[in-house]
Order: sequence, then C-alpha cells, then structure tokens
Amino acid sequence: MRGRDRFLEWTLRADPKLGLRHVGKCLICWESCVDTPFAEKARDWCLKHVGVTGHTGFQLSAFEFFDAILTDHPSVNDTPPT
Ligand SMILES: [Zn+2]
Repeated sequence: MRGRDRFLEWTLRADPKLGLRHVGKCLICWESCVDTPFAEKARDWCLKHVGVTGHTGFQLSAFEFFDAILTDHPSVNDTPPT
C-alpha cells in the first residue's frame, strides 16, 4: 500500500545515546561552543569567552535529537509491521 493511500501515524523518539545537549552562545558575536551533554561545560565556555573578548551577553540552549518512526514499527510496540 502506498503512503498516500492510508494515514500513517508517526511518533518521535529521542536518541538515548546522545541525550540532552547544551550549547552556550555569545549574543554579541554569535560565536558558540561545541554542544555538550553538560550544561556546566557550556557555561564554562561562556566564562572563558568573557575573559577573551569582554562580551557579556550569552544564551544557553538545550536540545535533543529525535528520530521519527512509524508507530507500527516493531521497535515501538514489539509487534511485526502490518
Ligand atoms: Zn562574543
């Protein structure tokens, strides 16, 4: 059956291997650190950036990576796909 012939249900699943990631970004020059699982490490980057540049405005963001998978996929409900 083609995808357009029936409504497919999708769900989002966070990647457990990567978990929550944190990024510190300077709001003056828009430089940012490499994403890290530790918020404190992103804050440390901001403090080092203050020391090097004198820039004092920052944003700390957290995000996750997700996969979109069909709800009838075996990894979602342990039943074979129909
Ligand atoms: Zn900066």
